[in-house]
Amino acid sequence: MSETNHYPVLEIDLQKLVNNAEKVTSYAGERGIEITGVIKGCNSIVEAGKAMLKGGCTGLATSRMDQMKRIREAVPETETWLLRIPMLSEIEDLIRFSNISLNSEEATIRAVEAACAGVGRHHGVILMADLGDLREGFRDFEEMIALAEEIEFRMPHVTLEGIGTNLGCYGSISPTTENLTELVELARAIEARIGRKLRYISGGATTTLPLLLKGGVPEGINHLRVGEGILNGRDLIVFWNTPFPGVVADAFTLKAQVVEVKEKPSYPIGEIFVDAFGEVPVYYDEGIRIRAIAAVGKQDVGSHEKLLVRDEGLKAIGSSSDHLILDVTDMPVRPQVGDVLSFDLYYPAMLYATGSASVEKVLLHPEAL
Ligand SMILES: *Cc1c(COP(=O)(O)O)cnc(C)c1O
Repeated sequence: MSETNHYPVLEIDLQKLVNNAEKVTSYAGERGIEITGVIKGCNSIVEAGKAMLKGGCTGLATSRMDQMKRIREAVPETETWLLRIPMLSEIEDLIRFSNISLNSEEATIRAVEAACAGVGRHHGVILMADLGDLREGFRDFEEMIALAEEIEFRMPHVTLEGIGTNLGCYGSISPTTENLTELVELARAIEARIGRKLRYISGGATTTLPLLLKGGVPEGINHLRVGEGILNGRDLIVFWNTPFPGVVADAFTLKAQVVEVKEKPSYPIGEIFVDAFGEVPVYYDEGIRIRAIAAVGKQDVGSHEKLLVRDEGLKAIGSSSDHLILDVTDMPVRPQVGDVLSFDLYYPAMLYATGSASVEKVLLHPEAL
């Protein structure tokens, strides 16, 4: 690792990412499921994408076009997927930089066909079915089947690569054997109409991994789009109580420098109004405590609640845009000004930290790629 004087630092252990990808892709592979690696959760840092490919992912995906361009430049031969259904204003870039996109609107797919015809390209689409989570996708499956036929027989530059669904994002609906069976049945209905097999039946994201581990993913699902479960398995452990065997949750480490250590009362003094973000936090009076400030803030990590301390006795008790407020009273050895503290990150903290220009990114084990 290169030494740095520019804190905060986000260390990204590429060896761990390769390992995590290997664990997920080999387990899924044994069950007939291919994994596209999703890197929008880490601002599509291309080395993270390369680690996923090294670990067995068969393509890379993101939801944003600026990130897609970076991916295409870094790994020109890789199959790229745009996950957010495309904007009409980005169709030209879409067909240039990505091979496949998730779709739910006929008008958009017609625009893709027209753009492809103009420049002699092809583009693959996955039609999305909404199985109850109520984010993107068709609720009317007859309409979806009709559009599949339309693409197959009347849009020569658009390839219907498959169908998919997204669960657990807006409506917090879990993937189950039942709703994924519905997806497989829908795929079979489309296959019957178009007279061929679909390449992909894409049964969701990281939130489908717990069901996979339980053996509940129905036959027919042959693809998942996994980001978080490889980048940062923390949620699988904390919210799903289903750690993925062999996957580590600490590939990302945030390091922040201490800029103040002082004894302070734990209860604010004066009239309590709202904090910098218009919220009214709850404060507890625990008397005089020893408090530290580390130089990193909400702009970099979203909230102190999305960080996990690594040091015994350390507590992250608050944050503002640029400050992280820590209670260090119970630490066996209290930090001093200039010391650097390390934190684990939940998904939102990883998302913000990788996107923050103020956070220096340091890649560990580049030789793993
Ligand atoms: C973000 C996203 C994924 C990947 O989600 P993870 O939780 O990171 O695995 C998959 N599919 C779609 C449509 C997405 O937007």
